[in-house]
Amino acid sequence: MQLTNSDIADLTKWRQKLHRQPEISNEEEKTALEVVSFLTPTEPDEILTGLGGHGVAAVYDSGKPGPTLLFRSELDALPIEELGNVPHKSEIPGKSHMCGHDGHTAILAALGRVFGRERPASGRVVLMFQPAEETGDGAAGVVADPRYGTILPNFAFSLHNLPGVPFGQVRIRDGVVNCASRGMRIELTGKTAHSSMPETGISPMQAVADLMPALAALGGGRFDEDGFAMVTVTHATMGEAVFGIAPGHAEIRATLRTRLDGRMAALCEQAEALAKGTAERSGLGLKIDYHEIFVASLNAPQAADHLRRAMDDEGIAHDDKDLPMRASEDFGAFGQRAKSAMMFLGAGETYPQLHNPDYDFPDDLIPIGARIFLRAAKNILG
Ligand SMILES: [Zn+2]
Ligand SMILES: [Zn+2]
Repeated sequence: MQLTNSDIADLTKWRQKLHRQPEISNEEEKTALEVVSFLTPTEPDEILTGLGGHGVAAVYDSGKPGPTLLFRSELDALPIEELGNVPHKSEIPGKSHMCGHDGHTAILAALGRVFGRERPASGRVVLMFQPAEETGDGAAGVVADPRYGTILPNFAFSLHNLPGVPFGQVRIRDGVVNCASRGMRIELTGKTAHSSMPETGISPMQAVADLMPALAALGGGRFDEDGFAMVTVTHATMGEAVFGIAPGHAEIRATLRTRLDGRMAALCEQAEALAKGTAERSGLGLKIDYHEIFVASLNAPQAADHLRRAMDDEGIAHDDKDLPMRASEDFGAFGQRAKSAMMFLGAGETYPQLHNPDYDFPDDLIPIGARIFLRAAKNILG
């Protein structure tokens, strides 16, 4: 059960092909077709397409009883103009694979190559290529798809490459690894007026001025404690860019962030009560909605143990430094119905950060990520 040098060369070339043709969240149609055509020669026992959007799942079944293991990668790129100068630079203006999901996809395709040649000794392996990770709706969409019930795993695993961590080393811990977060949009509606007679209208000015610092002040607590909460006001707009009209409308956007889902529920209640009270004081209409909802990602100790053991067997260094992360990851949705674990594979200490315009997935991580997953599968399924 291992990759050959020619597999690695193929996978590297294929990763770079994906890099040239990035598609952003919920538009991953061609990327999904590319995955299907790469995996078809490996003759999976089943391929499901259109999961939660453009998601693809390939199933390699031993035909014998045993656990189902799911390995997850993401299909989506970002609306960022690539500024690096790699030969396989994005050919799509304004879009690029600046999170390395092309590389994660190649790692899963590597597993397809190996399981195509030899099935696990028991149970099944599901390679899950999910859509729309960046917006937070992809994993939730896959899990909500009724067909997901037919590939429901006992264990779900994922990795993300991570600049700032020494190349090829891994960060992993039990419990929270990524925070819960969500975007809150607050819309305030009053009444416009001539700017010479503002008293005849209802301006949202005071409410906007009060709400922004008050929302931010709802955050607090130490990041290493479960009560941690953070509110980042990301955007505000009011009225029109003119001088003759007193404003009758405003919008504030803020990102809410907590370590745990329960704390998030409480934070939402606090933020909503604050917005309601502030709007009422100014006689404004209020509408609140939420976007890009990420649940917290928690590693089940038993699943994380499987990854740690695989790394020990493969001689790959790992520790739990700098975890959890403040950032969010929609893999948490898989953990609500399976024992799941996610790990972070070092891209190099001085490597450009994720979502920077000069980032490019380091291809030498493909065999390292694949080796860890293959060893974990071997240890569990034989
Ligand atoms: Zn990202
Ligand atoms: Zn990512």
